[in-house]
Amino acid sequence: MSKKQFKAESKRLLDLMINSIYTNKEIFLRELISNANDALDKLYYESLTNKKLKVNKKHLEIKLTIDKEKRLLTIEDNGIGMDKNELTENLGTIAKSGSLAFKEALEKKDDVNIIGQFGVGFYSSFMVSDKVIVESKKAGELQGYKWISTGADGYEITPCERKSVGTKITLHIKENEKEENYDEFLEEFKVQGLVKKYSDYVTYPIKMETTDEKDNKKSKADPINSMIPLWKKNKKKIKEEEYDNFYQEKFYDYTKPLRVIHTNAEGLVSYDALMFIPATAPYDFYTKEYKKGLELYSNGVLIMDKCEDLLPDYLNFIKGVVDSPDLSLNISREMLQQNRQLKVIAKTIEKKILKELKDMLENDKEKYEIFFKTFGVNIKYGIYDNYGAKKDDLKDLIIFYSSKEKKMVTLKEYTSRLNDNDDTIYYACGETIDKIDMMPQVEALKDKKKEVLYLTDYVDEFVFKVLDKYEDKKFVNVSSNDFDLSSDEEKEKLKEKNENAKEMFEFMKKELGDEVSSIRYTNKLKNHPICLTSEGNVTVEMQKVINAMPTDEHINAKLVLEINENHDIAKKIKELYENDKETLKKYTKILYNEARLIEGLSVTNPTELSNLVCELLSK
Ligand code: ADP
Repeated sequence: MSKKQFKAESKRLLDLMINSIYTNKEIFLRELISNANDALDKLYYESLTNKKLKVNKKHLEIKLTIDKEKRLLTIEDNGIGMDKNELTENLGTIAKSGSLAFKEALEKKDDVNIIGQFGVGFYSSFMVSDKVIVESKKAGELQGYKWISTGADGYEITPCERKSVGTKITLHIKENEKEENYDEFLEEFKVQGLVKKYSDYVTYPIKMETTDEKDNKKSKADPINSMIPLWKKNKKKIKEEEYDNFYQEKFYDYTKPLRVIHTNAEGLVSYDALMFIPATAPYDFYTKEYKKGLELYSNGVLIMDKCEDLLPDYLNFIKGVVDSPDLSLNISREMLQQNRQLKVIAKTIEKKILKELKDMLENDKEKYEIFFKTFGVNIKYGIYDNYGAKKDDLKDLIIFYSSKEKKMVTLKEYTSRLNDNDDTIYYACGETIDKIDMMPQVEALKDKKKEVLYLTDYVDEFVFKVLDKYEDKKFVNVSSNDFDLSSDEEKEKLKEKNENAKEMFEFMKKELGDEVSSIRYTNKLKNHPICLTSEGNVTVEMQKVINAMPTDEHINAKLVLEINENHDIAKKIKELYENDKETLKKYTKILYNEARLIEGLSVTNPTELSNLVCELLSK
């Protein structure tokens, strides 16, 4: 029988494993045991609906065997098993989540050291073995198959005898090398320690079988693992490291979670939930393939690996496990959606998560900022989703950069600093904090000792629109016309000035056509000559967002070109209007385009603008 080759990507990963200089090679055992555990779960679950499969839960187990003489370590399960096709598909290709995530992270970071923190699966066995044999018989089939590989040069599959269903993996442990000690993986004590360390929560018994010099097998009756899933253990007795390990292994993340949420509820509906707030987004988070959901168990047995109904959309980044004895094992997906208990669980879980986030924001701001950088947009989405149905639960979880504090603040913090008679929350939109900080309107406000929130996320302004108000304080965009801090007297004066210059502005506006709805003097700019504001409901920022969307929908804000009445440019314009109208036309175009640039809009006709500027410069 000829050797089959690994698929190209798998080969690369395999090479990495074989030549790995990683010190944490021991994780291979946890990977193989976790696969065995899944296979046992699958068989048990299948047997609930397929009566042909006779399964006694008591007999399901994982057996480890050590043969020191022959340098063999075997991991055997009596789970679902694999047929010939599955052996090829599953062990010849990287297709599965863990391996793929690993590969992608590797490409990004190019660092072999992340191996150990990943669910890299079956291939990790090549970190410690120079030959791997997988013998397997699928439940319900008669023929068993054997898969053999010495690594990079491919693998062979042949039929083989196997008495019972399930999978046996035999590792030929490598010889010790200079600094690499492989012998330890043939030590009973060491292997037991590894099981305790990484696989204690596995719900099926892991038993050790040893072979003595006379080739007699001795099986130990007591399982090595405690078999209590981590989520069912007493919270007080769990070390942080255990939570982290569990999370990283189960959810293929190489960073530790920001928060662990472990709750045990009893009462109307009983359940244990172990959830995590990740520090980073999963590699496929922004793709259509990403699915939210928590693993759902009934008394320690997996019902579904992504139960979507347990999480609202905006909390799609939460990872975790829910286990409830109140749910029947063979409940169908459709029935689950209608399930009352599940709805109760989902509701309490959501509350719990929000409470944790609030606690993190109040007591561990640094971590919250890390969280918010990645998942803040989720919270914002939660606010405007469903016409703002959840806005009251979420409005205190959003943070924005403050001009005054020079850091992220909540709306509550902002309003707590307002004077009694102040009823406005000022905000400015832009691409970056730095750019907003230099906006003329913002500088003028800072001068008046007013606090301004800087909105850099495209959804931010929509969030404010949905919130409408925060504790009776209204939101005002400093680039909109609603923003005016001047006294009545000043307003009156300005009005008069604008009235007097009406004809001049009409003349200038003609030059810009429909692009602006009006031109006028302003007194709100400090040192800056000009700015662009908007009238009506649509702001410049909203125009940018909506026009960037891949739809046919286009909107235009009603733009107003405002000129600082105290700036020299105001005088110059007046002069030109009286003496040189042709040049004023050119000035108008230049000023308008400058104002667009400041607002982050593009110039309408760059060549024309450049020519105009050069013409005036050469005078
Ligand atoms: P992952 O565990 O991330 O899916 P692996 O490379 O560890 O990736 O395993 C690939 C696939 O091989 C598994 O998804 C499973 O379908 C199958 N498999 C591995 N080990 C076993 C086993 N002991 N019994 C049955 N199937 C297995």
